[in-house]
Amino acid sequence: MPLPSSPLAQFRHHAERTPIRLLLAMLAMLLAPVLYAADRYADMWAAHALDDLLAEAHKRLALRQRAMNDEFELAFTSLHKLPELLAHDERIREEVVPRPEAAPPTPAHAPAARRGPLNAFLKTFAETMGLHFAWVMDHTGTCIAASNHDTPESLIGTNYADRTYFTAAMAGERGSQFAVGRVSSVPGFFFASPVRQYGAVLGVVAVKTDLPTLSRRLRLDAAFVTDEQGVVVLTNDKAHIFHALPDAPVRDMPVSARILRYKREAFPELSLRPFVAPGVPDGHGLTLVGDATRPALLGITHRPQDGLSLHVAEDVGEALTLDDRRRVRFHFAALSGLAALGTVLSALVHTLHNRAQLRLIADSNEALTRLNEELRRIAERDHLTGCFNRRRLDEAMNAELARSARSGHPLALAMLDLDHFKAVNDRYGHGVGDTMLAHVTDIIRRQLREPDLFARVGGEEFALLLPDTAEHDAVALLERVRRKVEETPLNHEGEPIPMTVSAGVAEARPDIEPDRWMRKADAALYMAKHCGRNRITRASDVPEDMAPGATDTAECCMTGNGGDSGTPGPA
Ligand code: GH3
Ligand code: MG
Ligand code: MG
Repeated sequence: MPLPSSPLAQFRHHAERTPIRLLLAMLAMLLAPVLYAADRYADMWAAHALDDLLAEAHKRLALRQRAMNDEFELAFTSLHKLPELLAHDERIREEVVPRPEAAPPTPAHAPAARRGPLNAFLKTFAETMGLHFAWVMDHTGTCIAASNHDTPESLIGTNYADRTYFTAAMAGERGSQFAVGRVSSVPGFFFASPVRQYGAVLGVVAVKTDLPTLSRRLRLDAAFVTDEQGVVVLTNDKAHIFHALPDAPVRDMPVSARILRYKREAFPELSLRPFVAPGVPDGHGLTLVGDATRPALLGITHRPQDGLSLHVAEDVGEALTLDDRRRVRFHFAALSGLAALGTVLSALVHTLHNRAQLRLIADSNEALTRLNEELRRIAERDHLTGCFNRRRLDEAMNAELARSARSGHPLALAMLDLDHFKAVNDRYGHGVGDTMLAHVTDIIRRQLREPDLFARVGGEEFALLLPDTAEHDAVALLERVRRKVEETPLNHEGEPIPMTVSAGVAEARPDIEPDRWMRKADAALYMAKHCGRNRITRASDVPEDMAPGATDTAECCMTGNGGDSGTPGPA
């Protein structure tokens, strides 16, 4: 069978004939677009997931930055208050006030006994307040009293004029600074206040808190603090202390100044690498801090009041698994897409295939019905004349007898026979005989009504079953038939072959057996033959006890044309 030309018709053609192959071919064709769509979807999902992840992390980071700054503010304000408190103490003020010429100011190295009470007070104060040191400097920056006066590392006599907390305090301001202890070598934060007399700054009082003590007051998890030189000065991660930010100003500091302040020359760079991964192509500001393997958002809060910068790292470790999750989404989307397409396509192909099958079944059923009708027609009809056969006649007689018994309507049966038909066979041959049979039955059929049944019961013998017909009406009908046949010879090669028929008519009596009824009609037919043929005889004119062949003694009935001349029908 040639393939249809339009793609739609081709699709239908394949769906009806090779549905599985068509389904597989279509799925194979759609594989690439489905994979492409699944990839796009997974990309979109990953971009959204990353956006959500970052938005959440930014929110958490902002909260933590604010909390950390508040903690710093609180801690540093209270630390600043301590030297301020001391600066108002009379004992300290007395020590820094210049004495009259007669009594020159007590030099730093004056006997400890003179400043014993002050040193003891500073020691108690430092211990009570959890300070590393508390000490007093004169206007030159030299320590004149200290909380650690009684230790080998006593600050007394050491000069701090280079420290910014000292210079700030001498300028009348609050001073604070990160530095490594000049004497103790312990790093810490220093807070200083001016000691005034009549508005003039005469000395400075300072306190120092070391890093472990300060760290306990602040939450530094995943956070670190740099000073104004970009040096990490406060962190829970010991490995990062004294590392410097990549662009830290400390690198431009003279070495001597570095040593003075930090007691070191070198400041390893704190590694801050941008995080780039398959699911996070352009980093989105994610950073790997130090040796960390998990990316984080880094937030910086600058504190101009003390020169510190608070760095908070908010973990965004989920970014590491983003690509894996993207892959899972991709596989899921691809499989679902293929499954959905497969389902829709197989439903479509299945429907088309089924429809074709149903059409085929319907066509076969129709052909079978036609065949059955044809078989029934063949089974109940005579092929030469198209009349019903004897079997059909018997069925109809039974049915009509029952119907007539119920309705009380009359019912008539006529037996009809061609006269001297043998002579036609003998003279013109069997073929013309057949034609004559068809010719005569055609004439008869045209005289019948729709409910009348016309059957061939023997060679040239027929029966007519006439519902709702009384005997005299049946005789009238048969008389019309007889006349028509007589008037309509068969035209054989231009030569008319005449034919006549004889018939016997019997009306059904209540409860009559079909055989007996037929015998009565037959007896009437015999009577018609006996009386000269080409005539109609009613059974009611034939004596009850007269058997076929015994009609010779009967009185001839004179219906019909008055009988033949005794010669065969055809001339
Ligand atoms: P009658 O008037 O007494 O009926 O004489 P008849 O010649 O018609 O009757 P008969 O019984 O002597 O002959 C009937 C003939 O019909 C015999 C048979 O060869 C012929 N015949 C029966 N069936 C067919 C048929 O189907 N075709 C043909 N051509 N002839 C048939
Ligand atoms: Mg005959
Ligand atoms: Mg006969």
